[in-house]
Parts: sequence; C-alpha cells; structure tokens
Amino acid sequence: MAGPKYLTGDKAGIEEFLAKFDLFLFDCDGVLWSGDNIYPGTAETIEMLRAKGKQLVFVTNNSTKSRADYKKKFDGLGIPAKVEEVFGSAYSAAIYISRILKLQAPKNKVFVLGESGIEEELKSENISYIGGTDPTLRRDMEQKDFLSIADGSALDPDVGCVLIGLDFHINYLKMSLAYNYLRKGAVFLATNTDSTLPMAHGFFPGAGGVGAGVVKAHGKDPLALGKPSQAMMDAIEGKFHFDRSRTCMVGDRLNTDIQFGIEGKLGGTLMVLTGVSTKEEILAEGAPVVPSVYLDKLSDLLG
Ligand code: PLP
Ligand code: CA
Repeated sequence: MAGPKYLTGDKAGIEEFLAKFDLFLFDCDGVLWSGDNIYPGTAETIEMLRAKGKQLVFVTNNSTKSRADYKKKFDGLGIPAKVEEVFGSAYSAAIYISRILKLQAPKNKVFVLGESGIEEELKSENISYIGGTDPTLRRDMEQKDFLSIADGSALDPDVGCVLIGLDFHINYLKMSLAYNYLRKGAVFLATNTDSTLPMAHGFFPGAGGVGAGVVKAHGKDPLALGKPSQAMMDAIEGKFHFDRSRTCMVGDRLNTDIQFGIEGKLGGTLMVLTGVSTKEEILAEGAPVVPSVYLDKLSDLLG
C-alpha cells in the first residue's frame, strides 16, 4: 500500500488535494490551536478554504465545552466560525440520547459523569439529568452513602442512562453511583474514550482514562459518541447531508481523527504534525492507521 503523501511545500499537490473536497471536518485541539494558543496562520487557512467555497465543520472530542463555549473560543482566538459549524462529543451524545435512544418516562433521566459542556448540550435537547457539576457530589464517600447506594435509596429511580465524559472532579461517590445505575440496567454511553488529554505542557488522563474505573467495574464498554465512533459520523451526516466521497477529515490523532475518517469511508484524511501523533507512527512499517496525506502544520495549506 502506498504511504501517506507529504504535502508541505508541494503547491500543486495541495491544489489537487483541496479540489477533491467540498467539505472539511476539522479536529480542533492540535490542529487549529494547542490549549489556548492558536497556531500561526490558522485563521488565514480557514479563510482561504472558505474563499474557495469549502464547507467546514469543527468536530471536537472535548466534552467539557458546549458548542456555545466553543464559539466563544473561536471568537477569542480570531478564527471565523459559526456556532452551527461546531459539533462536539457532548452534543453528539445529547443528539443520540434524544433522537435515537429516546429515553421513555419514567426512566428518562441521565446520570452524568462530566462537566458543564455535557449539561449544556443535554439541556439543548431537553434531556433531564442529574450528577454532572452537582456540588453535593464533590465530597468523600461516607458510610451512609455505602448503605444508601447498596439498598437503592440513594439512587434516582428515573435514571435510564449513564453518560461518562471527562470529569475533573471524579471521585469514589460518583463512580459508585454510576456503577450502581449501570447494575440496575441503565444504558451506558460515553462522550468519548480518549485515553489521554494532551495539554500545552504535557499529557493527562482523558475521558477514557477517567472513566476506565467504572468500565472495569461494570465489565462492559460504553457506546462512545465521539471520534472515532461512527455514531458521531452518522449524526454529523444527519445534520449536514454531505457526500462522503467529497469530504476530508483533518486531524492530529491517528486513533481518533484519522480512524474516524477512514471508518467513515470519507474521500480523504489529512494529518498535521502539530498534535498527538507523530510522523514516525504513520511511516512505520505496517502502521495500522495511515492518513491519505500529511503536513507539518495546517497553515502549510496556504502554500
Ligand atoms: N477532551 C478534552 C476534555 C479536551 O480538553 C480536549 C482538547 O482540548 C479533547 C478531548 C480533544 O479535543 P479535540 O478532539 O479537539 O482534539
Ligand atoms: Ca485533536
């Protein structure tokens, strides 16, 4: 199999590649910016693609922020984007719960392990939830909690689904509640299962890393609604109605972004070397996931 094509500095190759697509699905962190630092040339590259008439959707696994939060982030960094163009894993999960799962009363509440991004998106789809940022759960587990969780009196009988995302305040109490809702038959979902969370100065546990304790206790994996899950691709397609053969996924992480594009049978995948995955990984003999093309950085598209 031919390896990925390196397009940095290849003006004709870039033109030819861009001409193949009408829509670009953009990963955010590691492609457009790192944390709160925009990469030089990001705004100009986005403007160049828009000037060529390309449609753009920004697809992020970050469940701690809602689409509205992301719009603020785009504005703050000076990247032209509309809130309707943002598609995050928290929104993906909310859409799945409201439109596919269609939780029925009385078991129509979601127990959330996660931050306000998930809560905002659940609200946008009129889904009831508990947990999340509830301050009463940010405490040590006490003897009375062991008893009331075990006898079920601490459990809300209306919970029919457990949704796990990255929770910066994870603790034993929340894990015990999530696990016991699952034992009672709640549907198990995750916004995303990224093992790590890359930050400007290093790596930390991601949503998958944080949720792993509940997964291990329960013995079953959640259905993940972020990249590379095709449930997310289907949800994006449901909203934007695009031709997959004329769509390209742009990302920095092989096992989320590039895998997402390949499994989704998109026309192409573009990897940039400004984020998690490395050139060595894609050029290694027998590399399991390989993009169609790669660039040192996104702004190399400017030629
Ligand atoms: N999850 C969290 C909590 C994050 O903060 C980030 C990046 O900021 C990600 C996941 C990965 O996001 P992306 O899919 O945009 O790379
Ligand atoms: Ca990324």
